[in-house]
Amino acid sequence: MLWSLIKIVVFVTVIAALTWGAGYLLESSGGLQITVMGTEFNFGPLQSVIAVIGLVIAVWLLLKVFALLVAAWHFLNGDETALSRYFDRNREKKGYEALSEGLMALASGEGRLALSKAAKADKYLEKPELTNLLIAQAAEMAGDRRTAEDAYRKMITNQATRFVGVRGLMKQKLADGDTDTALKLAQKAFALKPKHEETGDVLLKLQAEKEDWKGARETLNTKLKNGQLPRDVHKRRDAVLALSEAKEVFAEGNSIESREAAIEANRLSPDLIPAAVMAAHSFIEQDKPKYAARLLKKAWSVQPHPDLAAAFAAIQPNETPKERLKRFTMLTKVQPDHAETKMLLAELNIAAEDFPQARRSLGDLVETNATARSVTLMAAIERGEGASDTIVKGWLARALNVSRGPQWICENCQHIHASWNPVCENCHSFDTLAWKTPPMSEVAMPGGLQMLPLIVGTIEDNSGADAKPPVGTRSDIEDAELITDPVENGAKSK
Ligand SMILES: [Zn+2]
Repeated sequence: MLWSLIKIVVFVTVIAALTWGAGYLLESSGGLQITVMGTEFNFGPLQSVIAVIGLVIAVWLLLKVFALLVAAWHFLNGDETALSRYFDRNREKKGYEALSEGLMALASGEGRLALSKAAKADKYLEKPELTNLLIAQAAEMAGDRRTAEDAYRKMITNQATRFVGVRGLMKQKLADGDTDTALKLAQKAFALKPKHEETGDVLLKLQAEKEDWKGARETLNTKLKNGQLPRDVHKRRDAVLALSEAKEVFAEGNSIESREAAIEANRLSPDLIPAAVMAAHSFIEQDKPKYAARLLKKAWSVQPHPDLAAAFAAIQPNETPKERLKRFTMLTKVQPDHAETKMLLAELNIAAEDFPQARRSLGDLVETNATARSVTLMAAIERGEGASDTIVKGWLARALNVSRGPQWICENCQHIHASWNPVCENCHSFDTLAWKTPPMSEVAMPGGLQMLPLIVGTIEDNSGADAKPPVGTRSDIEDAELITDPVENGAKSK
């Protein structure tokens, strides 16, 4: 209120002063006289004041126009001026906007949109290390493999993004199943970044798959040095690789080197069953049966396994069943309650024709932990004790209906292997095979289980009439005869 009043008072005062000034100038005599080339210009007092003000404005305008002309002249000569800087800032802003929109699109799974934003960002920003990555990822999401590959290749040329480029290409080759190229790229990526754990794993897997055991052992050692692997895991895997190396050398015919490698593998991991078996055979060949027996006993104490028993039998191939039974106490006393030990004792007693002792050795295994092997052993014991065919075949029929017992199973994909392998046949994982019982499948014999009582019954009916047993049980009887050999593979004395 007071402010408005002051403004009005000031306004009125200024107007009054101007009016008074103009009146004074009009009334006063005299003025300005300018002579230009003989002509005289006469200005009155008011006119003079207006002319001076007009001149000042004209000079100011002239100076402004002159400055603009100078700026334009510099710009045309290619100088960095405020003009071009202004436009650059605009480009960068647009580029970053496109980049962030592209990242958002990538995160929300819109591959095509992300790709077009990435292309826009690439056009505005001169930052290939940022935009190439976005292009590659967006192209992969959109299923545009070519563009992704091109982007990865561009990234390889830049020192800062080389690793990411190599890794991206490696993943593409892996997806294509081109493991040869993938292996080379993995080696390159691992050389660039030895501490990158995933690359090390991929390289190791590919090397194991390609049976490059030496290379795989080097990779494993680098991983240990970088602290990515616990020492015991490293030891175990190194043993697996050493064993694989030994097998390869053996296949090439260099048995001395192979022996040393097998013994080395066993030293690294005494519980690795195939290494123990191979090392035992090496010692047997070197005529060092005591060494062989000792390492087999050690392995048996960790994990009783039929292959270990077979190798133990091979130490003395020409002994009698009674001698063998006695010698095997070195193994059987280590883990007396283990199912494998019980079955081994039963087999040894069957071979020695001590059937009651074989039955005692087997104990309640057929009730508590029935497997095809333990039930078949029971059939052999019954047969040895002179039981009727019906009882024997009843056991054999049961053998079809129970678990097949422990086998080499991949812990990654549950694939069952006939023999131990360093690499899973199915999923190509490295060192995933474990000796354990697979989950019992209900469809072990489609439609057959209901028929079994019928078949067994038929045999009983015809047994007096000297008829041939139906097809299908015949081989089972032969199996029963076969298993009287104490250890299936090992003893060649029989
Ligand atoms: Zn597997």
